[in-house]
Amino acid sequence: MASTTDVVVLGAGMIGVSAALHLQARGRSVVIVDRLGVVAGETSLGNSGIVQTEAVFPYTFPRAPGEILKAALNRDPRAHIKYSALPSIAPFLWRYFLASSPAKRLASARVMRRLVELCLIEHQAFAREAGSGPLLREGGWIKVFRTTRGEDSALADAEEGRPYGVTFDMLNREQLLALEPHLSELARGGLHFKQPMTTSDPQALAKSYADLFLARGGRLLKGDARSLAASGPGWVVTTEEGPLSARDAVVALGPWSDELLRSLGLRLPFGVKRGYHMHYAPRGNAGLSRPILDLEKGYLVTPMARGLRLTTGAEFARRDDPPSSAHLDRLEPFGREMFPLAERRDAKPWLGRRPCLPDMAPVIGPAPRLKGLWLDFGHQHWGLTLGPVSGRLLAEMMTGERTSVDPAPFRAERFR
Ligand SMILES: Cc1cc2nc3c(=O)[nH]c(=O)nc-3n(C[C@H](O)[C@H](O)[C@H](O)COP(=O)(O)OP(=O)(O)OC[C@H]3O[C@@H](n4cnc5c(N)ncnc54)[C@H](O)[C@@H]3O)c2cc1C
Repeated sequence: MASTTDVVVLGAGMIGVSAALHLQARGRSVVIVDRLGVVAGETSLGNSGIVQTEAVFPYTFPRAPGEILKAALNRDPRAHIKYSALPSIAPFLWRYFLASSPAKRLASARVMRRLVELCLIEHQAFAREAGSGPLLREGGWIKVFRTTRGEDSALADAEEGRPYGVTFDMLNREQLLALEPHLSELARGGLHFKQPMTTSDPQALAKSYADLFLARGGRLLKGDARSLAASGPGWVVTTEEGPLSARDAVVALGPWSDELLRSLGLRLPFGVKRGYHMHYAPRGNAGLSRPILDLEKGYLVTPMARGLRLTTGAEFARRDDPPSSAHLDRLEPFGREMFPLAERRDAKPWLGRRPCLPDMAPVIGPAPRLKGLWLDFGHQHWGLTLGPVSGRLLAEMMTGERTSVDPAPFRAERFR
C-alpha cells in the first residue's frame, strides 16, 4: 500500500528544498525524495557561496572569432573543453552560441532581473525563520582585475548592469587593499558589489532550510526519481520506505533532471557546465573577508568554513565523464600568485555540474503534456542565488496564486 502526500519533490539540492518549503508554507503536505538521502549532497554543496544580486546578464558563449578560437584551443583559462566530449555536446554548444547573440543577451537580462531582484529577500526570509542568518555574510564580493584592459572590460560590464539595478564601487589598488590586504601586487584594482550576501558553507545553509522544512512536518526519503511513473490522477515513486504517491511531482534534479524527463518522453536541450573546487589553508595569518574573482583568469576564491575555496569556471564535458584535474591544475598557479594560498586541504578536487539550458535561464513551471508534473531546474551558475525565489514562483503557480514574477519566460514550451 503506497503512502500518500500532496507533492513529492524530486531532488534535495537548494532548488528542491526551496520549492518544498514554499509549497509547505501554502498548506501542501510535501515529501522530498533524493537518491543520496541527504540535503545538498551534490552541486549545492560545492559552489562559490555567492547570492548574486548583480547577476542579470547571462554568461554567454564567446561571439568574436578571436575569442572563439582562443576558447576552442583551450588558451582561455576561464573555460576548459574536453575535446573527446565535443561530438556529444556540440548540439548543446551550438544552441548556446545561438542564444548568446547581443539581442538575446539583453532580452535575458530583462527576464532574469525580475527573479534576481527578489533573490536576497527570499534567502533572508528563509534564513530568519531557520535561525541561520549568521550563515549569510555581508560585505559583498569583488571582481579583481590585473590590467587596464581587465579594468575597462569590468567597468563596461558593470555599467551595463546599472539600468537593471546593479550597483558597485570602483576600487583603486589602495582602496582594494584596505578591504583585502592579502592580495598580491598583481591586483591592480577591483569592482566591489556590496549588495550580494555570501555564505561560508553552502551545504549548511541548504541544510538549515531543510531542517526548517522537517521541523514543520516535511519528510525527506531516500529513493530513485527514475522510478517515477504516472498512477491514477497523479504520480508514484519508489522510496526506501516503499511506494509514495502524490498528486503533483516536482523535478528538481539539477544536472540529472533530463534523465527522468527523457524517460517520460519530454526532451529539452539540456547541458551541463562542470566546475571544480579545492580548499587551501591560508598562508600564515593571511586570509580573505569575501569572495574574490580573478577576472582575467576566470576563477573565484571564497573564504569558507573549510578554508579558502578556489572554484573553477566552466568545463565543457559530458556530465558523467570522469573528473579531470586539468582545469584546476591550470588555475592553481594563478591563484597562488594572487592569493595567500598554502597547502591543499582536499585529497582530490570536488566536481560539480551546473545544470544549463542554452539560453541560461531556468525552467520553472508545468511540464508540457504531463499533468501534475512540475519543473524547477537549469539554474546554471546561479542556483544558490535563485533557489528560494524559484521555489516561490513554482509554489505560486502550483497553488494558483497570483505570481510575484511573470512565469512565461521560464516555461519549458519556449524550446518548442
Ligand atoms: C564550481 C561552482 C560554483 C558555483 N557558484 C555559485 C555561486 O556562487 N552562486 C550561485 O548562485 N550558484 C553557484 N553555482 C551554481 C549552483 O551551485 C547550482 O546552480 C545549484 O547548486 C543547482 O542546485 P540544484 O538543486 O538544481 O542541483 P543539485 O544541488 O545538484 O541537486 C540535485 C539533487 O538531485 C539528486 N538526484 C539526482 N539524481 C537523482 C535521482 N535519480 N533520484 C533521486 N535524486 C536524484 C541529487 O542527489 C541532488 O541532491 C556554482 C556551481 C559550481 C559547479
